[in-house]
Amino acid sequence: MEEQKYTTSKPSWVPEKDDDKFACSVMSGIDGIKDTTVGNINPNIASGKIKPKRRMILSEDDYVNGVANGDRITLSRAITLIESNSPRHFKKAQRVLQRLLPRTGNALRIGFTGVPGAGKSTTIEAFGNMLCDEGHKVAVLTIDPTSSVTKGSILGDKTRMGTLSRRPEAFIRPSPAGGTLGGVARKSRETMLMCEAAGYDVIIIETVGVGQSETTVRSMVDFFLLIVLTGAGDDLQGIKKGIMELADAIVINKADGDNLMKAKVARGEYERMIEFIRPATPGWATHAYLCSAVEHTGLKELWEVIKGFEKITKESGVWQKRREGQLLDWMHSMIDEHLHNLFFEDAVVTGRMPEIREAVLKGQISPTQAVAELINLFDVKRASMRQVDIFHPEKE
Ligand code: GDP
Repeated sequence: MEEQKYTTSKPSWVPEKDDDKFACSVMSGIDGIKDTTVGNINPNIASGKIKPKRRMILSEDDYVNGVANGDRITLSRAITLIESNSPRHFKKAQRVLQRLLPRTGNALRIGFTGVPGAGKSTTIEAFGNMLCDEGHKVAVLTIDPTSSVTKGSILGDKTRMGTLSRRPEAFIRPSPAGGTLGGVARKSRETMLMCEAAGYDVIIIETVGVGQSETTVRSMVDFFLLIVLTGAGDDLQGIKKGIMELADAIVINKADGDNLMKAKVARGEYERMIEFIRPATPGWATHAYLCSAVEHTGLKELWEVIKGFEKITKESGVWQKRREGQLLDWMHSMIDEHLHNLFFEDAVVTGRMPEIREAVLKGQISPTQAVAELINLFDVKRASMRQVDIFHPEKE
């Protein structure tokens, strides 16, 4: 490598006889570099032709106005603020959200779930494009339970929804990285509200049908859709009854080509199964539908189903009731999480815990007695004094 061409300036306090190697000699800095191609300095910056870019810090007003005006860059940055683990950002994000709250709540919120490979992203892309063509503004958010647990990702690794992501009427945001599912859920809910405030009238939340994430998504959306596949005779296997109970529609995707007949058979089977399952939404009959995300068939019908659902449940009051229930459940689940963290991070409780566990295992005390003793030791006020940041426990 070519030797760097610095000049050094010798301060007056360097001993007379010492040369440039004296430990306290001072590099003269960028101005002293004669050859601007040396090092990492952009020659245009070094020569003063362009100024280095600086990300402007947005004020609370900038965020509120930008999001309210539907500015996508500000929306993205507002979501980054929500996702930040810094308590300072958290507080700012909450103030912004508070001011935007009157603009939220008007979108239709739809959840999509299904096993990897079922065709979620292909379907959402085709469906989203169709809605944009009809004049809707569509936001797609993903909740990826794998990224919160293992930092790996099922949903996010591939380049997804390429055509939809390029449309100005669409906004796509991947799952927030890391953290607990509870933390991811809070961030996703708040992201959803930001998107609503920015004028998106259809919000699609996508998740993988594994683990608990579909329950989390069900608790955020108005309409929940399960995408399934027909396959080698095991159509109904691998679909947990629990997930079917959450669904307002079951969509058999890839109903095209050689698969069309199989899809029709599967539809009949799902219809028969649904009869034995409690409907996810009171007053609404869940059915199975066929679609092909590749051939774009069945998508318009699906949209009609969803709009029909909106009309019926709004008229019956079930829509509003569900939204209210979701808000309160959200609040309660955050309280649960907060208290849980305070309890299990309390020094007195954790100090006593090993002995109590031992005593339970030896049959010396019952689990009920153990709980009573630990709860008695637990002092909420003292625990709160530790100022655990409940929303960012991972920062502790
Ligand atoms: P995801 O993991 O559920 O998001 O599934 P993808 O949308 O990535 O789809 C998985 C594979 O199924 C891809 O190769 C798609 O091209 C394919 N696929 C998705 N929808 C359809 C469809 O309607 N028909 C056919 N034939 N293939 C499809």
